Parts: sequence; structure tokens; C-alpha cells
Amino acid sequence: MTPPRDPSFIRPPPRATRIAPSPTGALHLGNARTFLVNWALARRSGAKVILRIEDLDGPRVKPGAIEQTIDLLTWLGIDWDEGPFIQSDDLTPYRQALSGLAAAAMAYPCELTRSQIEAAASAPQEGVHETPFPASLRPPLLPRAFDDESTNWRFVVPQIDIEFDDLFHGPQRIAPAASVGDFIIWTKRAQPSYQLAVVVDDARQGVDFIVRGDDLLDSAARQALLYDALGLPRPRLLLHLPLVLGPDGKRLAKRHGDTRLDTYRSRGVRAERVIGLIASWCGVGGDLKEMSAAEFGGALTVSTIPRGPVTFGPREDAWLCST
Ligand code: GLU
Repeated sequence: MTPPRDPSFIRPPPRATRIAPSPTGALHLGNARTFLVNWALARRSGAKVILRIEDLDGPRVKPGAIEQTIDLLTWLGIDWDEGPFIQSDDLTPYRQALSGLAAAAMAYPCELTRSQIEAAASAPQEGVHETPFPASLRPPLLPRAFDDESTNWRFVVPQIDIEFDDLFHGPQRIAPAASVGDFIIWTKRAQPSYQLAVVVDDARQGVDFIVRGDDLLDSAARQALLYDALGLPRPRLLLHLPLVLGPDGKRLAKRHGDTRLDTYRSRGVRAERVIGLIASWCGVGGDLKEMSAAEFGGALTVSTIPRGPVTFGPREDAWLCST
């Protein structure tokens, strides 16, 4: 396995990163870890930090959720140099990107429902939550006008392997044609999908260093295809962190209890305690101890982050609440 690499030691250093919360669910301990690691590595390597609120492609954003997200990031000690940019403020750049892809016969409208797609897929795929879009359902590829925003649009996925190097996971080789097929880049809710929005924004905001959960490792390959199709440079440095898991080994979720930052804060837990727990999840320091964001940032290196999953259970909850 290739050793993890720390962006602070890479030349030339990264220019810009983004902290990109989705205000569709309240910030929980898992997101807090990603954002804090992202911020700390950016500050140490001198990269500009951009705050981008990703409020597209999700359930409706609850009133006040954006303000609460920003307030909690500040409470943790995270700061930024630009933003907040709010994706829903202006859909023009995403529309332009889609128009370009449609005109180049690289995107097409698709009204098929999930059950129609599943029925057309050759065999049910065990353990795969999303049925890959079968190539047989792709219409003839023609230059088109992006003239209907209220239907799904799919991207024409080429039969190629995408290779990239992840700072944490090492070399990757992923074939999106086999894993997802032609994926949705515009949704019938008249909004770009996450995949398109993230590529357009990372490119126009000059982001060359990305930190996020490794549930998105696969998405990085889809995004690489979009960068190539749009003629945009791919981000240079990618770091996908293992997710925080519950005691049952499953991704931290509501069933593991209320791990929202806001809940801990309202119970009187100090930000330094939350950061201390996050530090222990990153192999920083020995025993659990309180720490400021700046102390965490000074001590963190990518090589100490555990290779395996980190877990949150009753012991960690008890430590947070024992102030
Ligand atoms: N908005 C996404 C999230 O909160 C992050 C997506 C990304 O970093 O590319 O999970």
C-alpha cells in the first residue's frame, strides 16, 4: 500500500480548497471531522479556503440550516478566505456547462423511471444500491439543445478506466461505465446534480485540493470524466478520508444516536472537546484531551490518520459529555 502523502510537503503546494457542507442535514461529528481536517491541511499548506454551501440536489433545505451550518463551523474554529458561495444563487454556470455537453452530443434527456431502468438491466446486482444505467437504453447520440430543464439529463459515459492518485488511498483505477453507466447530471427538479455542480464550481473557483469522505471516491472518477468532457483541468490533489462508523461498523447515522454538533453544543460540550475527539480519530496526540482548532492544525499529518475505520460509540459520547 502506498504511504499517505501530506499536501504540506507537496510542491507546488495546493492553491485553493473548499469546505462544502450540504445544509440538508445538520452537521454531525463525521462532517465536522472532514471539515476540520480539510481546514487544517489547507492552512498548513497555505491553500486558500473557500466556503461553498451545496444546497442543490438534495431534499429541501430547511430554513435556517445555512446559517446554522456557518455558525457551527465558526464555533469549531474553522475560518475561510472566500464565500460563503451558495450554489442555488445562480444556476447559469451549470446551465452553460450542460448546454455545451448537449451540443457536443455528450448529454441527452432521459425520462425513464427507476423501475424501467431496473427492468432493462440484464441481471440484478447483489449489494449494489444503484443499478448501472444499461447502455442499451442510451438514445442515438446527437448534438442537442438544452431546451428542457424539467427532465433528467444523462452524461454519455465513455468505456474507459479513470486513473488517479488519492493522497490517502493511493492509486485508483475505476470504470464508471461498469459501475454506474450514463449518470444523471441534471435533475427534473430543474437543478444540476451533485456531480455536475461540484465540477463546475471546483473549476471556476480554482479548487485544486479536495478533502472529503471516501464514500465519494467512486464519484471522483465520474467527476474526472466531466472535467475531461468540459475541457477543464482535473483537481490535482484528492484526499478521501475513511468515514466515521458506529459501533456496528456501519456509517455513522441517526440510529447511532444524536451526534449532531448542535445537540452537543446545546448540552454545554465545548468545541475543544469535540476537536479532541476528532484529533484522536486522526491519530493526533495520545489519550483523549481537549484541543483548539489551531493546536489540532499544528499537530495533524496525513500519515497518522488511521488506515482503518474510526468509530464513534458510547465511550466517545461519554467523554464528550463528561465536562
Ligand atoms: N456537499 C458534500 C457533503 O457534504 C461534499 C461534496 C464534496 O466534497 O465533493 O458531503
